[in-house]
Amino acid sequence: MEATIAAIATALGEGGIGIVRISGEESLPIANKIFRGSALKERMLTYGHVYDNFTGETIDEVMAVYMKGPRSYTAEDVVEIQCHGSVVSLRKILALVLKNGARLAEPGEFTKRAFLNGRMDLTQAEAVIDLIRAKSDKTFDVALSQLEGKFSQTVKDIRADFVDLLVQITVNIDYPDEDIEEMTYDKLFEGLGAVREKLQALLATSDTGRIIKEGLNVAIIGKPNVGKSSLMNALLRETRAIVTEIAGTTRDTIEEVISIRNIPVRLTDTAGIRQTDDIIEKIGIEKSKESFNKADLVIFMVDGSRSLDEEDEEILQYMDGRQAIVVLNKQDLTQVVSREEIAARVPQAVIIDASMKEGMGIETIEDKIEELVYGGQVKQNDSIMVTNVRHKNLLELALQSVEDASAMTEMRQPLEFIEIDVNRSYELLGEIIGETASGEIINEVFARFCLGK
Ligand code: GDP
Repeated sequence: MEATIAAIATALGEGGIGIVRISGEESLPIANKIFRGSALKERMLTYGHVYDNFTGETIDEVMAVYMKGPRSYTAEDVVEIQCHGSVVSLRKILALVLKNGARLAEPGEFTKRAFLNGRMDLTQAEAVIDLIRAKSDKTFDVALSQLEGKFSQTVKDIRADFVDLLVQITVNIDYPDEDIEEMTYDKLFEGLGAVREKLQALLATSDTGRIIKEGLNVAIIGKPNVGKSSLMNALLRETRAIVTEIAGTTRDTIEEVISIRNIPVRLTDTAGIRQTDDIIEKIGIEKSKESFNKADLVIFMVDGSRSLDEEDEEILQYMDGRQAIVVLNKQDLTQVVSREEIAARVPQAVIIDASMKEGMGIETIEDKIEELVYGGQVKQNDSIMVTNVRHKNLLELALQSVEDASAMTEMRQPLEFIEIDVNRSYELLGEIIGETASGEIINEVFARFCLGK
């Protein structure tokens, strides 16, 4: 018998209510020992009190619910006790549940049980943690669609294609015949081409998928006083970075995770990357370089009312070949920097006229960020996306095997060899949904979870 597990399911802090969750065969007997109120009936929220069955002390006024397996999150018997959202109450109730025979759940163990009991596949379980961690609407949507099984359905459909191919191969191996053999090679080649396209299409979503999940790294760079903090503030729509007129105040990098058009964006305001003797500023500059290097997009801000100087030129050199937006700021003042001047140095950059003072150009910057993330290919409303590195790696390996199989088919290699590769692709896709994943991989997936989920 699996141990009965328990954990605090809500965040530890002040809250209206907090929940202690118990799962396993002993959950109802344990609850009955510590709950005083009407008898707990299946799927009925019941009012009562939790009391210490060893000392008789009343612990909290609660609502409790019993969900009999398999109609519960874990597919086991589950009891959830809703108490006041105080750390004191939650800890006392949990301690009491443990004292009565439950074991403290490991991170993700409830979801792991749901997976092991067949309530969801591995991609759905992974979606649970993505949902909990989601910081933007889009991230949440994609994770929800994955939880609903849309991603795994796509994978399962491709797997079904592999089964068809394997059947064709097997029939031919079992009943070899010259004519049929020729036909088998031709059909196989065609079939492999079709699955290859499906795998490629899925993999094509992975860049956007990564950004949707982890956020787009954007570094704002430029000399002191050009308006970087003002831009950051405009994007944040609240004043967090300090806007001042003294050059060099943005000494350290400031990172903010914000949501632009529902895309999570990690925004770093940098101290510039010029040479300096000031120790504190030097540290800031090192950090700037770091965030500059890891940025998916660099926003270089220029004060259009002052001519470019050495420092601007230095930054422009670093921008070579980078995805970049150059913001020509302070358009409300007389302009001395021309677009041509910038375009000549960074031809790949998008140049945007702006005035932070007048709120001009901010929308355009947001448009460009959105365009960059979706690359014109993946539509915003498409929620089937590869957001998980584990999935991406397996899809890539599966694609590789399909390509190998295709090449061998073209060269009329023995079908037994081709079968090995097709079978491997099938197995790799099975690993994504957890059908063929090893215990080690499964443990790794759930180790990323938080307690109580
Ligand atoms: P940072 O040092 O690059 O972060 O620049 P700040 O955002 O702190 O701005 C420096 C100064 O320039 C502040 O006094 C801002 O009010 C001013 N400033 C920022 N944007 C504009 C603009 O578009 N036009 C004008 N005239 N002043 C601006």
